[in-house]
Amino acid sequence: MKQFKEKFEAYRKSPNIRALKMWHDLCPQYFPLNAADALFQNLSPYFTLWFSAEIINELLGQRDRMRLIVLVLITVLGNLAISVFSQILNRACNHANVLLNQREEAAFVRKTLTLDYQDLESPDIRQLRRKITENERINGYGRNQLISTVCWGMEEMVHFILSLLLSMEMFVKIFRTGFSIWALGFCVLLVAAFALHTFLISVALQKISSLADDIGQNMLDKNRVEGGIDVYNMGKDIRLYRQAGLILKIKRKLYDAYTEVNRKFYTKQYLNDAPLFAIGYFIEGLVYAFVALYSLMGAWGIGSIVKYSRSIKNLWNSVAMFFNIKSYIEGNTRFIEEYLSYFDLPNRMYLGKIPVEKQFLCDGGDNEYEMEFQNVSFRYPGSEEYALKNINIKFQVGSRLAVVGQNGSGKTTFIKLMCRLYDPTEGEILLNGVNIQKYDYAEYLQLFSVVFQDFRLFSFPLGQNVAASETVDSDLAKRALEQAGFSQRLKEMPAGLETCLYKDFDENGVEISGGEAQKIALARALYKGSPFMILDEPTAALDPIAEFEIYQSFDNIVKGKTAVYISHRLSSCRFCDRIAVFDRGRIVQTGTHETLCGVEGKYRDLWTAQAQYYVGEEQ
Ligand code: ADP
Repeated sequence: MKQFKEKFEAYRKSPNIRALKMWHDLCPQYFPLNAADALFQNLSPYFTLWFSAEIINELLGQRDRMRLIVLVLITVLGNLAISVFSQILNRACNHANVLLNQREEAAFVRKTLTLDYQDLESPDIRQLRRKITENERINGYGRNQLISTVCWGMEEMVHFILSLLLSMEMFVKIFRTGFSIWALGFCVLLVAAFALHTFLISVALQKISSLADDIGQNMLDKNRVEGGIDVYNMGKDIRLYRQAGLILKIKRKLYDAYTEVNRKFYTKQYLNDAPLFAIGYFIEGLVYAFVALYSLMGAWGIGSIVKYSRSIKNLWNSVAMFFNIKSYIEGNTRFIEEYLSYFDLPNRMYLGKIPVEKQFLCDGGDNEYEMEFQNVSFRYPGSEEYALKNINIKFQVGSRLAVVGQNGSGKTTFIKLMCRLYDPTEGEILLNGVNIQKYDYAEYLQLFSVVFQDFRLFSFPLGQNVAASETVDSDLAKRALEQAGFSQRLKEMPAGLETCLYKDFDENGVEISGGEAQKIALARALYKGSPFMILDEPTAALDPIAEFEIYQSFDNIVKGKTAVYISHRLSSCRFCDRIAVFDRGRIVQTGTHETLCGVEGKYRDLWTAQAQYYVGEEQ
């Protein structure tokens, strides 16, 4: 009893059952509808088999006209009713299928959107997400495999039950006819052939499953390389660097490997299947002989020969299929484990409850507040190197801080920590003397309008991109776009704020340049109107005139806000109250432009190096 309980518990906790329960919760009608559909889709042949046997037996026996008419009517009307039900169920199943797909996809996306940011960026978790989607979309492993196998199992269960019922009828009749030693011999032979057949099936399945995995891996590699070669975006480089030959060579190599694995797979499958077919035909012959002999002995009418031989064949077939199904489910379990492990990722970030004081949230706070990094060090998850080391900096809310330094010196990481996309590995970040982890997370995020270097816009209408929402305050959006230097382009847009960006969802969508995209991203930050305005190389993609215009209106843009500004253009940092110079993860200098230029150090080195190229402009 205890052993049974343990087994049941393990079964209940099995990843496949967990996944099925999860999908059932997402769309409760899916599996019951599919079970009903499996029944009605497969009922008709058995129904016809049973009644046509009755009709033939009647024709060869009593020939009672009334009974014959009734039998024919039942067969025709019964099949009609089954077919109508079947159609209705089929439509309902298709609908449930769409619902389940949508809800499951939404659940997956929701999980991704609510992951701690550090998990979202983590290479391991990105790899896990990619593996899950690739295996599902390309190889059909994971979710699709389990669902289709379970539905297949339902169909086989229907075959099994119906053919078992018909076979039982046959065995009752045999029993009534009387026991004979050769009938027993037949049964033993039949059972032995069944057992051999099912054993060979499971061996064959095991043998080819590793090759099927190889095919799957090859498909993924092929797809990854094809996905990586974006002919549209790489078109210029491919032509200018004459890379077409190289790409075709890589592709050919992949295709050759893929063809070779496929060839091996199908040869092996053929060799495996050949004895299975032979035994299958042998069993079928045995069954026919057995049923026909009993018919000769008067156990049943000639019309029942097809009925019983078919039902025994189906019974054995469904048992063999259960082995197939079991092996498919077992082979797929590791993909389901991967799938569930994604949903199981915990949110580890400590979420405080202290409300963010409202002064921060309105323009022109009274500037009594300060942000402080206290001995902050940070390592990216899985990385040995510190991206930031012993950062100590304090700045007044309402002031302007410029962050400068060479590539990889830790500027963006500093911003990510300030916005609490990551928590420090060591040290504390304080806002007004309180560790930022203690603030309500959603409210804390509201404090920041950030334009990251690698910002992304969506293929949505311009207004929605600026508002980052479906509801758009048109006046505010237009004002933000104007401040960001986008007003002229807005006037040219066919549907104004309603104009779709890019052509993914709308063929009338507009393509925008990198500079225009940066202006829209800036407008999005302005629209949000947060008290902290953080700009990471906000003018990198802008032409000199647009850059000049942005600087001109910068006072207006950051008025009353705390501005943190990352730029390689040191000249553009001069208007900041304070400059922090980063070098290899540390702050090596702080001060104003004038004080930093007056002393030996990193800032002066960078400034002198740049000034050579901007002599006219800067000096
Ligand atoms: P900067 O903005 O000054 O160019 P970053 O803050 O982007 O520099 O990067 C600082 C260091 O952290 C670099 O060595 C970079 O390779 C590393 N780094 C940045 N992002 C990640 C990440 N997601 N995972 C691991 N290391 C990262």
